[in-house]
Amino acid sequence: MHKIGIDLGGTKIEGILLDEKYNIIQRKRIETHQENGYDSIVKSIISLINELKAKTGEETSVGICTPGVIDVNSGLVKNSNTQCLIGMPLKNDIKKALGSQIVMENDANCFALAESLLGSAKGYDVVFGVIMGTGVGGGIVINGTLHKGRTNIAGEWGHHTLHPNGNECYCGKRGCVETYISGPALERRWYERSGQKTSLQTITQTVYELPAHKVWFKLWKEEFLENFGMALANVIDILDPDVIVLGGGASNIPFLYDEGKEAVYDKVFSDSVDTPILKNSLGDSAGVFGACMI
Ligand SMILES: [Zn+2]
Repeated sequence: MHKIGIDLGGTKIEGILLDEKYNIIQRKRIETHQENGYDSIVKSIISLINELKAKTGEETSVGICTPGVIDVNSGLVKNSNTQCLIGMPLKNDIKKALGSQIVMENDANCFALAESLLGSAKGYDVVFGVIMGTGVGGGIVINGTLHKGRTNIAGEWGHHTLHPNGNECYCGKRGCVETYISGPALERRWYERSGQKTSLQTITQTVYELPAHKVWFKLWKEEFLENFGMALANVIDILDPDVIVLGGGASNIPFLYDEGKEAVYDKVFSDSVDTPILKNSLGDSAGVFGACMI
Protein backbone atom coordinates (compact mmCIF):
# COMPACT_ATOMS: atom_id res chain seq x y z
CA MET A 1 0.00 0.00 0.00
CA HIS A 2 1.26 3.50 -0.81
CA LYS A 3 1.36 6.05 1.98
CA ILE A 4 0.41 9.70 2.14
CA GLY A 5 1.83 11.78 4.96
CA ILE A 6 0.78 15.34 5.72
CA ASP A 7 2.73 17.64 8.04
CA LEU A 8 0.58 20.50 9.25
CA GLY A 9 2.80 23.31 10.46
CA GLY A 10 2.20 26.88 11.55
CA THR A 11 3.42 28.36 8.26
CA LYS A 12 3.34 25.48 5.77
CA ILE A 13 1.52 22.25 5.02
CA GLU A 14 3.71 19.60 3.46
CA GLY A 15 2.45 16.45 1.77
CA ILE A 16 4.35 13.39 0.62
CA LEU A 17 3.44 10.23 -1.27
CA LEU A 18 5.64 7.20 -0.59
CA ASP A 19 5.69 3.67 -1.95
CA GLU A 20 5.91 0.56 0.29
CA LYS A 21 9.67 0.99 0.68
CA TYR A 22 9.43 4.65 1.70
CA ASN A 23 10.66 5.91 -1.68
CA ILE A 24 9.29 9.35 -2.53
CA ILE A 25 6.83 9.40 -5.44
CA GLN A 26 5.62 12.98 -4.98
CA ARG A 27 6.17 15.80 -2.53
CA LYS A 28 4.48 19.18 -2.26
CA ARG A 29 4.52 22.14 0.10
CA ILE A 30 1.83 24.83 0.41
CA GLU A 31 1.32 27.76 2.78
CA THR A 32 -0.90 27.31 5.83
CA HIS A 33 -2.67 30.72 5.90
CA GLN A 34 -3.75 30.54 9.53
CA GLU A 35 -5.33 33.97 9.12
CA ASN A 36 -8.06 32.50 6.85
CA GLY A 37 -9.18 30.27 9.68
CA TYR A 38 -9.87 26.65 10.41
CA ASP A 39 -12.14 25.83 7.43
CA SER A 40 -9.57 27.04 4.95
CA ILE A 41 -6.86 24.89 6.55
CA VAL A 42 -9.10 21.81 6.36
CA LYS A 43 -9.84 22.53 2.67
CA SER A 44 -6.15 22.95 1.87
CA ILE A 45 -5.34 19.61 3.53
CA ILE A 46 -8.10 17.79 1.64
CA SER A 47 -7.05 19.18 -1.74
CA LEU A 48 -3.41 18.29 -1.06
CA ILE A 49 -4.37 14.71 -0.14
CA ASN A 50 -6.54 14.36 -3.25
CA GLU A 51 -3.77 15.72 -5.44
CA LEU A 52 -1.32 13.15 -4.03
CA LYS A 53 -3.87 10.34 -4.33
CA ALA A 54 -4.28 11.15 -8.02
CA LYS A 55 -0.57 10.38 -8.56
CA THR A 56 -1.00 6.72 -7.74
CA GLY A 57 -3.38 4.06 -8.89
CA GLU A 58 -2.87 2.11 -5.67
CA GLU A 59 -4.68 2.09 -2.33
CA THR A 60 -3.19 4.67 0.00
CA SER A 61 -3.10 5.17 3.75
CA VAL A 62 -3.28 8.72 5.06
CA GLY A 63 -1.47 9.96 8.16
CA ILE A 64 -1.43 13.51 9.45
CA CYS A 65 1.14 15.10 11.70
CA THR A 66 -0.30 18.00 13.71
CA PRO A 67 0.95 20.46 16.24
CA GLY A 68 -0.69 19.79 19.60
CA VAL A 69 -2.41 16.75 21.06
CA ILE A 70 -5.69 15.07 20.09
CA ASP A 71 -7.78 14.49 23.18
CA VAL A 72 -8.53 10.77 23.54
CA ASN A 73 -12.09 11.26 24.75
CA SER A 74 -13.32 14.22 22.72
CA GLY A 75 -11.17 13.84 19.58
CA LEU A 76 -10.56 17.61 19.72
CA VAL A 77 -7.21 19.32 19.25
CA LYS A 78 -5.69 20.79 22.40
CA ASN A 79 -2.42 22.57 23.30
CA SER A 80 -1.65 23.48 19.69
CA ASN A 81 0.49 26.46 18.80
CA THR A 82 -1.56 26.75 15.59
CA GLN A 83 -4.24 28.47 17.63
CA CYS A 84 -7.20 28.18 15.24
CA LEU A 85 -7.07 24.37 15.55
CA ILE A 86 -7.64 24.37 19.31
CA GLY A 87 -10.96 22.81 20.27
CA MET A 88 -11.69 21.72 16.68
CA PRO A 89 -12.58 18.15 15.55
CA LEU A 90 -9.81 18.15 12.92
CA LYS A 91 -9.53 14.39 12.54
CA ASN A 92 -13.27 13.86 12.13
CA ASP A 93 -13.65 16.72 9.68
CA ILE A 94 -10.89 15.40 7.43
CA LYS A 95 -12.19 11.85 7.69
CA LYS A 96 -15.68 12.96 6.70
CA ALA A 97 -14.45 15.04 3.76
CA LEU A 98 -12.27 12.20 2.45
CA GLY A 99 -14.75 9.45 3.16
CA SER A 100 -12.01 7.17 4.47
CA GLN A 101 -10.08 6.44 7.66
CA ILE A 102 -7.05 8.51 8.57
CA VAL A 103 -4.56 8.44 11.41
CA MET A 104 -3.36 11.54 13.21
CA GLU A 105 -0.51 12.10 15.61
CA ASN A 106 1.27 15.09 17.13
CA ASP A 107 4.49 16.42 15.65
CA ALA A 108 6.80 15.22 18.44
CA ASN A 109 5.53 11.64 18.12
CA CYS A 110 5.91 11.75 14.33
CA PHE A 111 9.43 13.11 14.76
CA ALA A 112 10.41 10.36 17.22
CA LEU A 113 8.96 7.65 15.00
CA ALA A 114 10.62 8.91 11.81
CA GLU A 115 14.02 9.36 13.45
CA SER A 116 13.84 5.93 15.06
CA LEU A 117 12.90 4.11 11.84
CA LEU A 118 14.80 6.13 9.22
CA GLY A 119 16.99 8.67 10.99
CA SER A 120 19.69 9.10 13.65
CA ALA A 121 18.05 6.77 16.16
CA LYS A 122 17.75 3.84 13.73
CA GLY A 123 18.86 0.60 15.38
CA TYR A 124 18.14 1.69 18.96
CA ASP A 125 15.35 -0.11 20.87
CA VAL A 126 14.05 2.62 23.17
CA VAL A 127 14.13 6.09 21.64
CA PHE A 128 13.25 9.41 23.21
CA GLY A 129 12.69 12.03 20.50
CA VAL A 130 12.78 15.66 21.54
CA ILE A 131 11.53 18.74 19.74
CA MET A 132 12.90 22.06 20.94
CA GLY A 133 11.34 24.58 18.60
CA THR A 134 8.50 27.06 18.99
CA GLY A 135 7.23 24.59 21.54
CA VAL A 136 8.95 21.76 23.40
CA GLY A 137 7.62 18.24 22.94
CA GLY A 138 8.76 14.67 22.96
CA GLY A 139 7.85 11.18 21.87
CA ILE A 140 8.74 7.67 22.98
CA VAL A 141 9.31 4.82 20.51
CA ILE A 142 9.85 1.30 21.78
CA ASN A 143 11.00 -1.33 19.27
CA GLY A 144 9.65 0.68 16.37
CA THR A 145 6.26 1.41 17.94
CA LEU A 146 5.03 4.65 19.48
CA HIS A 147 4.31 4.50 23.18
CA LYS A 148 1.38 6.91 23.52
CA GLY A 149 0.30 6.31 27.10
CA ARG A 150 -3.11 5.86 28.66
CA THR A 151 -4.25 9.40 27.89
CA ASN A 152 -2.05 10.10 24.86
CA ILE A 153 0.44 12.35 26.67
CA ALA A 154 3.44 10.00 27.02
CA GLY A 155 6.65 11.84 26.28
CA GLU A 156 5.19 15.33 26.77
CA TRP A 157 8.24 16.41 28.77
CA GLY A 158 7.85 20.05 27.62
CA HIS A 159 5.19 20.57 30.25
CA HIS A 160 6.74 18.86 33.22
CA THR A 161 7.69 21.25 35.97
CA LEU A 162 11.30 22.41 36.22
CA HIS A 163 10.76 25.30 38.61
CA PRO A 164 7.68 25.40 40.85
CA ASN A 165 6.57 29.06 40.97
CA GLY A 166 8.62 29.62 37.80
CA ASN A 167 7.57 31.15 34.47
CA GLU A 168 3.89 31.12 33.62
CA CYS A 169 2.98 28.73 30.81
CA TYR A 170 0.05 28.92 28.39
CA CYS A 171 -0.98 25.44 29.56
CA GLY A 172 -2.02 26.90 32.90
CA LYS A 173 0.90 25.57 34.96
CA ARG A 174 4.07 27.34 36.10
CA GLY A 175 7.71 26.52 35.48
CA CYS A 176 7.21 24.15 32.50
CA VAL A 177 10.33 23.09 30.57
CA GLU A 178 8.94 24.78 27.46
CA THR A 179 9.06 28.21 29.13
CA TYR A 180 12.85 27.84 29.57
CA ILE A 181 14.29 26.02 26.58
CA SER A 182 11.91 26.60 23.65
CA GLY A 183 13.14 28.87 20.85
CA PRO A 184 11.05 31.87 22.01
CA ALA A 185 12.15 31.34 25.65
CA LEU A 186 15.83 31.28 24.66
CA GLU A 187 15.40 34.40 22.52
CA ARG A 188 13.61 36.20 25.36
CA ARG A 189 16.31 35.36 27.87
CA TRP A 190 19.03 36.36 25.37
CA TYR A 191 17.32 39.75 25.06
CA GLU A 192 17.00 40.15 28.84
CA ARG A 193 20.69 39.36 29.32
CA SER A 194 22.20 41.20 26.35
CA GLY A 195 19.67 43.87 25.45
CA GLN A 196 19.79 42.59 21.86
CA LYS A 197 16.79 41.16 20.04
CA THR A 198 18.26 38.14 18.27
CA SER A 199 16.58 35.27 16.43
CA LEU A 200 17.22 31.69 17.48
CA GLN A 201 18.85 31.09 14.11
CA THR A 202 21.35 33.91 14.68
CA ILE A 203 21.95 32.77 18.27
CA THR A 204 22.75 29.30 16.94
CA GLN A 205 25.28 30.71 14.49
CA THR A 206 27.00 33.03 16.97
CA VAL A 207 27.32 31.03 20.19
CA TYR A 208 30.85 29.91 19.33
CA GLU A 209 32.00 33.35 18.22
CA LEU A 210 31.17 35.07 21.50
CA PRO A 211 34.02 35.25 24.02
CA ALA A 212 33.33 32.71 26.76
CA HIS A 213 34.13 35.25 29.50
CA LYS A 214 31.49 37.73 28.36
CA VAL A 215 29.43 37.88 31.54
CA TRP A 216 25.91 38.05 30.13
CA PHE A 217 26.62 35.28 27.62
CA LYS A 218 28.16 33.07 30.30
CA LEU A 219 25.05 33.53 32.45
CA TRP A 220 22.71 32.84 29.51
CA LYS A 221 24.56 29.68 28.58
CA GLU A 222 24.90 28.38 32.15
CA GLU A 223 21.22 28.86 32.77
CA PHE A 224 20.29 27.14 29.50
CA LEU A 225 22.58 24.18 30.21
CA GLU A 226 21.24 23.88 33.76
CA ASN A 227 17.64 23.75 32.51
CA PHE A 228 18.39 21.48 29.54
CA GLY A 229 20.41 19.15 31.78
CA MET A 230 17.76 18.89 34.47
CA ALA A 231 14.90 18.44 31.97
CA LEU A 232 16.57 15.53 30.15
CA ALA A 233 18.08 13.98 33.29
CA ASN A 234 14.52 13.62 34.60
CA VAL A 235 13.61 11.76 31.41
CA ILE A 236 16.61 9.41 31.70
CA ASP A 237 15.85 8.70 35.36
CA ILE A 238 12.35 7.55 34.47
CA LEU A 239 12.66 6.04 30.98
CA ASP A 240 16.40 5.26 30.65
CA PRO A 241 16.18 5.30 26.83
CA ASP A 242 18.87 3.81 24.57
CA VAL A 243 19.20 7.12 22.74
CA ILE A 244 17.89 10.67 22.80
CA VAL A 245 17.53 12.45 19.47
CA LEU A 246 17.08 16.21 19.31
CA GLY A 247 15.02 18.17 16.77
CA GLY A 248 13.53 21.64 16.30
CA GLY A 249 15.42 24.93 15.79
CA ALA A 250 17.28 24.79 19.12
CA SER A 251 18.74 21.37 18.24
CA ASN A 252 21.12 23.28 15.94
CA ILE A 253 22.91 24.79 18.94
CA PRO A 254 26.22 22.92 18.75
CA PHE A 255 27.23 22.89 22.43
CA LEU A 256 24.21 20.74 23.35
CA TYR A 257 26.07 17.68 22.08
CA ASP A 258 29.14 18.09 24.31
CA GLU A 259 28.59 20.52 27.20
CA GLY A 260 24.84 19.92 27.06
CA LYS A 261 25.32 16.17 27.28
CA GLU A 262 27.63 16.61 30.28
CA ALA A 263 25.03 18.84 31.96
CA VAL A 264 22.51 16.02 31.54
CA TYR A 265 24.87 13.30 32.82
CA ASP A 266 25.76 15.38 35.90
CA LYS A 267 22.16 15.21 37.07
CA VAL A 268 21.24 11.60 36.28
CA PHE A 269 20.83 9.10 39.11
CA SER A 270 23.58 6.82 37.82
CA ASP A 271 27.38 6.82 37.74
CA SER A 272 27.50 4.90 34.48
CA VAL A 273 25.17 6.99 32.33
CA ASP A 274 26.25 7.02 28.69
CA THR A 275 22.99 7.72 26.83
CA PRO A 276 23.85 9.03 23.35
CA ILE A 277 22.34 12.46 22.66
CA LEU A 278 22.23 12.84 18.89
CA LYS A 279 21.18 15.43 16.40
CA ASN A 280 18.33 14.46 14.07
CA SER A 281 19.20 13.47 10.52
CA LEU A 282 15.87 14.06 8.75
CA GLY A 283 15.58 17.76 9.56
CA ASP A 284 12.27 19.30 8.48
CA SER A 285 11.25 16.07 6.77
CA ALA A 286 10.66 14.08 9.97
CA GLY A 287 7.05 15.28 10.17
CA VAL A 288 5.89 14.02 6.78
CA PHE A 289 7.82 10.76 7.00
CA GLY A 290 6.54 10.17 10.54
CA ALA A 291 3.00 10.83 9.35
CA CYS A 292 3.38 7.97 6.85
CA MET A 293 4.52 5.60 9.59
CA ILE A 294 1.89 6.10 12.28
ZN1 LIG B 1 3.14 24.18 30.30
